[in-house]
Amino acid sequence: MHKFINYFQNINPKSIQIHRRIVQYLFLVTTVLIGLQFSVFVNQLENGILPTVSRPPGIEAFLPISSLISLKYWLLTGIFNRVHPSGLIILLIILSTAILLKRGFCSWVCPFGLLTEHLNRLHHFIFRKNIRIPRWLDYPMRSLKYLLLAFFLWGIVIRMNAFALDYFIYSPYNMVADIKMLYFFKNISTFAFWVLVALAVLSILIRNFWCRYLCPYGALLGALSLLSVFKIHRNNQTCTNCQQCTRACPVDIQPHKATTVLSDECHACLKCVSACPEKNTLYLSGFKQTGVLKPWIYAVTISSLFLGGSLLAGATGYWQTGISNNEYLFHVQNLHLPFYQHNGEIPAYNKDAWLRMMAEIRKSQSAMSRNYANGESSNNNN
Ligand code: SF4
Ligand code: SF4
Repeated sequence: MHKFINYFQNINPKSIQIHRRIVQYLFLVTTVLIGLQFSVFVNQLENGILPTVSRPPGIEAFLPISSLISLKYWLLTGIFNRVHPSGLIILLIILSTAILLKRGFCSWVCPFGLLTEHLNRLHHFIFRKNIRIPRWLDYPMRSLKYLLLAFFLWGIVIRMNAFALDYFIYSPYNMVADIKMLYFFKNISTFAFWVLVALAVLSILIRNFWCRYLCPYGALLGALSLLSVFKIHRNNQTCTNCQQCTRACPVDIQPHKATTVLSDECHACLKCVSACPEKNTLYLSGFKQTGVLKPWIYAVTISSLFLGGSLLAGATGYWQTGISNNEYLFHVQNLHLPFYQHNGEIPAYNKDAWLRMMAEIRKSQSAMSRNYANGESSNNNN
């Protein structure tokens, strides 16, 4: 038993960041593959042919607002809509990681978190040190992301009733929101391009600029992460106050001053734990000194939540969109129509007529598939 407890307490500091890097790059590769597959899917639709590659459901991870609307719709009506179901599943997984494993999504999974870390390195390379902005400026700026979150929550949770949610979810705009997102990056406007350049430059000048000050997703996860039982703990008895943990922390938390880190900014990157030279002094655990979470267990748990959640959703029919390839073909060929646009609000459309038309398109696809299957079997019989 003693050996067992020892195993969970002894952490090899060097291995921590290796585990994190492996998980980060696995998610990055997955994201890139999803993006490429979706680009091919849309490209075939643009060329007027029914796609030969399937649409990757994971693309809906890039539709957080639509997913938040789906979440409220589900809670309010009990209906798990099939327009972008995987977006809602991914949102639920991400929220559960925050409650279970702190804000680890930001530093173990999110590709923008990985990009931010590389921009931080560039910051260090240029300035030869980590420039910290003064606390009097840092605190009000950190509240910006909470204001953005409040804006979205007010617009969706407070203002949208079941009718408005339903109207949005089945709208032509929402049905092609994933394609619109792809076009945003493919045909980026000059304005959007310079905004992205400005964000990148600001992220080099001020470490974690996007994540720390502007990302509303980070704000939501930060708030939820306060509920997590797992926290960074420091053993006062063995700590030598060398402050290496504080110097290593990318978000300017000062673990050397706390016995338990309670900050909403802590994204469980464990850099402080890696930096600590004293054995079993700083650790991520559920309860002080017991329940220490080994980095590989953290890595496996956070990855399994995504993998297991998506597999379970796939097996139970909550992963693939209900939009058929024929409908997608129709959408892409008609994207210029006004009701696919979004200029601050969803343009008016006749929902019943629209859904009837979609049902007709789907029916014609089923008939085509049946004819094709019958044709194939009669050909085989001949
Ligand atoms: S306190 Fe530790 S785990 Fe939290 S963000 Fe700072 S370095 Fe990462
Ligand atoms: S790095 Fe470890 S020993 Fe040094 S101050 Fe932080 S917790 Fe204490």
